[in-house]
Amino acid sequence: MNIFSTKKDLTGCILSYKAKNKSIGFVPTMGALHQGHLSLISTAKKKNDVVVVSIFVNPTQFDNVEDLKKYPKTLENDIKLLDTISCDIVFTPSVEEIYAENIVSNKFNFDGLENQMEGKFRTGHFDGVATIVKTLFEIVQPNRAYFGQKDFQQLQIIKKMVKKNRLPVKIKGCSIFREEDGLAMSSRNIRLSKKQREAAPFIYKTLKKVQRKIGAKNITEINEWVENEFKKQPLLELEYFTIAEEKTLETVEKRESDKKYRAFMAVFAGKIRLIDNIRLK
Ligand code: AMP
Repeated sequence: MNIFSTKKDLTGCILSYKAKNKSIGFVPTMGALHQGHLSLISTAKKKNDVVVVSIFVNPTQFDNVEDLKKYPKTLENDIKLLDTISCDIVFTPSVEEIYAENIVSNKFNFDGLENQMEGKFRTGHFDGVATIVKTLFEIVQPNRAYFGQKDFQQLQIIKKMVKKNRLPVKIKGCSIFREEDGLAMSSRNIRLSKKQREAAPFIYKTLKKVQRKIGAKNITEINEWVENEFKKQPLLELEYFTIAEEKTLETVEKRESDKKYRAFMAVFAGKIRLIDNIRLK
């Protein structure tokens, strides 16, 4: 496994693979790797000759300084883990290597996708995400890039960015990987206290119930039901719950038969923010 921390070294290696006509699969991450990340990597390995994983905690996508400071960093472990699954290349740049002196994001327009859900609650988040992903695409030059549906809004935004900028990369969405009790795997989960960790599977349990209720109840009733359920949970605070159309991510009050919908939520366990979503049938 090759580990690079500079653009120059990584580019040299990528170009030598490109010269041999090898396809490049790319999995961008912020590290503190878990099985969810590994599932993306194993999907990438099936379709590409070479798999590149980046580990970079991107400062411009955090609207909360404390969240950035406390974001788990487990680089040594991550590298060991990647070695065991024979990842080809790991890219671990410093903040200076990516941003030089200018740690700011560019401004993007995603036709309104950026104004929903996470975009509403995390100011500038998607400008930061798009800035880093576009930069990494320019460095890695992947044929395919893999993103989790856990961050479904992010996945749709990246697809939109690629389309608008006509970037030569195919974006692949991968299923949400969960703990046995249903909690969506997340790097932030290791920050949960024992009690918060025990409470957190309630998020997915509620989403599953919404999935079952959707045929029988109208959306307003479901929204109210979810809010009331969370009021009974002392360790969890609901930030938002919404049922939205997959393409536009717009909140709906009524479903149409030819469109696809998902239920999305963000929940605080103390200061730790967890998100999850589920496809509605
Ligand atoms: P992160 O390191 O949290 O920025 O995540 C890197 C990539 O892994 C993103 O595309 C995430 O959507 C994806 N990811 C994170 N958690 C999961 C999960 N539980 N299942 C599937 N993909 C995930």
